[in-house]
Amino acid sequence: MVSVNIDKDPHFRRIIVNEDKCTKCQLCIPSCPSAAFSDLNIFSYEADLCFGCSNCLEYCPYDALDFENWSASNPLELNRLFLLGASAFEIHLGANLEALENFYLKLDLNSVKLESFSIGSEKMTDLELAESAIFIAKMTREQPNFEDRLIIIQCDGIPQSGARLPNNTDKDLKSIHNADLVLKALKKNNLLLPNIFVQIAGGIDDKSLAKAHALGVEIHGIAIGSWLRKKILELNAEEAKHLCKKIINQSKTNAENYRNLAVQK
Ligand code: SF4
Ligand code: SF4
Repeated sequence: MVSVNIDKDPHFRRIIVNEDKCTKCQLCIPSCPSAAFSDLNIFSYEADLCFGCSNCLEYCPYDALDFENWSASNPLELNRLFLLGASAFEIHLGANLEALENFYLKLDLNSVKLESFSIGSEKMTDLELAESAIFIAKMTREQPNFEDRLIIIQCDGIPQSGARLPNNTDKDLKSIHNADLVLKALKKNNLLLPNIFVQIAGGIDDKSLAKAHALGVEIHGIAIGSWLRKKILELNAEEAKHLCKKIINQSKTNAENYRNLAVQK
């Protein structure tokens, strides 16, 4: 799976510290869940540890922190990765559907088995979200051999929320709400096709799938990031290896089940 960025997605940015403004007051240090800031001898910042959550911004009283956004991905580079064996991609997009189409139509989809589209940035309105899902379904449907590929529409909620709102146990409600909108929009337009699946991401934990179903939102799957990373860090190496193997096997079974479901639908 190759992740690519079409617009300004929080997964594709990191903090830069403006050295001219930074007083090394260290107030930002406790705000970072990945310990990108440290005070070993002197205040320092390790950019490779930043995953773009934005927690730290409000902690700096000197306006010394800002985001550096990575440039959008190049479809030709993605095609090269397909030649090297990549068979799945996930596109993070904003509300710029023209940019999505320009990118997507340059892809060579012959060897692609799975396409995932992440929508639902905090800046998108409900209407934009529904329009994006409909656009994705129509755009993918028009490509040759559409039925041979699995299409995931991932409804993001609060990005990287495992690191934010620590005491809020309902961090996944935003992504569940977004998935509800998307499912309704696809159904209404007869676009919930056999090989199109809807999943949620952002604030997800081990209860989220059941919670969505209890709310009547029939999502097909979940993407767990921050919550699981934290859990794995609590384990020793052997336990972590065991859990990862279990997750991989379960994911393979789920994927196989969905593949069969798509064939039967
Ligand atoms: S708090 Fe978040 S945005 Fe700020 S440096 Fe840490 S990971 Fe990056
Ligand atoms: S809070 Fe701002 S000024 Fe203080 S150390 Fe962090 S970046 Fe520098």
